[in-house]
Amino acid sequence: MAKTKYIMYECAYCHKPTKMELVGEMQNGTEEPAQKLWYRCTRCKHSALVERQALSKTKNGDGTRIDRGACTVYAKDQVFKVGQLIYHSEWDDVGKVVAKQKTSDGTQAITVSFEKLGERKLIENVPLAEEHETVQEVPTQV
Ligand SMILES: [Zn+2]
Repeated sequence: MAKTKYIMYECAYCHKPTKMELVGEMQNGTEEPAQKLWYRCTRCKHSALVERQALSKTKNGDGTRIDRGACTVYAKDQVFKVGQLIYHSEWDDVGKVVAKQKTSDGTQAITVSFEKLGERKLIENVPLAEEHETVQEVPTQV
């Protein structure tokens, strides 16, 4: 028999984490596994679409962490997509790209929601050879 899968998830109707029952997947017409799953709140019986990615990380950080193995290591010459998971080796933190923007001088930037550090802006698509032009040298006091 099919196994019933339960998760703890914040129900939009109950406004608190509730036990939710998996009722199906949303087919997206591609060969990739469905990114959104239908869950039904066992409390109020309302159904909700839950993103698969949201299942691996909860907002309140109750110990569930982004799998570092699923992350792309951040480098400023790379180009990232919204929703992509990245690992910042200097900060030793993992996060998810939540937005992309272009600064006034034409530099591309991404906003990343890090697990430990919170939201941070990082530059992207910067050729490594031009690195020195974007780094601000801080004069050392003698
Ligand atoms: Zn509910």
